[in-house]
Amino acid sequence: MEKQKKILFQTLGCKLNFAESSAIGKELTKNGFQVCNKNERPDVVIINTCSVTDTADKKGRQLIHRMVRFYPHAFIIVTGCYAQLKSDEIASFEGVDMVLGTNEKVNIENFITDIEKKNSAEVHVDNFGQIRNFKPECSADDRTRHFLKVQDGCDYFCTYCTIPFARGRSRNAPISETIKVAEQAIKEGAKEIVLTGVNTGDFGRSTGENFYELIKALDNIEADVRYRISSIEPNLLTDKILETVALSKHFAPHFHIPLQSGSDEVLRLMKRRYTTEVFAEKIHRVKEMMPNAFIGVDIMTGCRGESEELFIQGMNFIESLPVSQLHVFTYSERANTKALEIRPIIPMHERRVRTNILQEVSDRKLKKFYESQQGLPGIVLWEESKDKKNMAGFTENYVRQIRKYDETKINQFEQITIK
Ligand code: SF4
Repeated sequence: MEKQKKILFQTLGCKLNFAESSAIGKELTKNGFQVCNKNERPDVVIINTCSVTDTADKKGRQLIHRMVRFYPHAFIIVTGCYAQLKSDEIASFEGVDMVLGTNEKVNIENFITDIEKKNSAEVHVDNFGQIRNFKPECSADDRTRHFLKVQDGCDYFCTYCTIPFARGRSRNAPISETIKVAEQAIKEGAKEIVLTGVNTGDFGRSTGENFYELIKALDNIEADVRYRISSIEPNLLTDKILETVALSKHFAPHFHIPLQSGSDEVLRLMKRRYTTEVFAEKIHRVKEMMPNAFIGVDIMTGCRGESEELFIQGMNFIESLPVSQLHVFTYSERANTKALEIRPIIPMHERRVRTNILQEVSDRKLKKFYESQQGLPGIVLWEESKDKKNMAGFTENYVRQIRKYDETKINQFEQITIK
């Protein structure tokens, strides 16, 4: 009986990438491979890369060179967004045997029939316009939290972003298929499922359905499960979605909404699809319907055209919002993006100064939110604990709680008073 070939996964980037690596692992296990860990001698190494920033590309390069050094005998496959955007660059690296694009990643099992080391890398990367493949997938981060990939790609082409070129146009599977994957995860013990995608709220683009219909269908599954929406564009956060979450027994009052800038002029330069007025309206609607909801907001600092005056205007707008936390990113140039034509260019040190200023704003808002939750009821989902002394879990509105370790509580919901 032929010895099972061992596969080692190395994944960088977003939850979507981890969901995909986990699903590829499951698929390859069905095809006679065995997923192994770093301490074993892999026959194949699959590196699932990210390309959201220059730093992400750099981390990808470092990881590829490290894997080639550690496992000189292994068949090295590089896939993911960096591979889709810079396949020739990666194919030129010593020791790389195959480069696969976003379309090919979905059917990786069709490409690893012969794993003999190659003199030069084989490249299979469809142009971003041809990227059509999609499979709803679910990965388990641990016993408690599962990430359900419901959507991929994006049609928005914001001026600073390369993701549409790396992941293709917005697409998804029919609701019926997506529900099957969710039900399977619940059968496997999932208690919390995070809906992930590139532009998650744009679910339905390729099937004529919509995100509201998807969450209604998930909400109708009779099960002891909680859902979180990983992120949703403000222009896609409809009242129907808010009402469903507000009245739902399953959907958590936890929203992650990208704002990117608090200045209408900068939003216009970014080609975002809303104004600060619309954004503020959405935030107030959330708080009206769910006063204790957790709202996380993405902000990018130092984008092209963000003068000092526009930054201060933006900061004042953000200060005025009843949000819980900011995720602050420092703008970095990306090749082939329209933002490169925009002036003025903000010096990197000035961008970092702005990031630190908004990080302080975020710390203040988070402290204020946590204080406002003290003494209120919450439902915690307790997670596994490595030290077996204490264990942690999050309430539905994303307040982290700690308690003394109790094995019987792992992956269990518990009604508590927020401390
Ligand atoms: S919505 Fe804009 S920032 Fe988000 S993935 Fe699409 S193009 Fe990029």
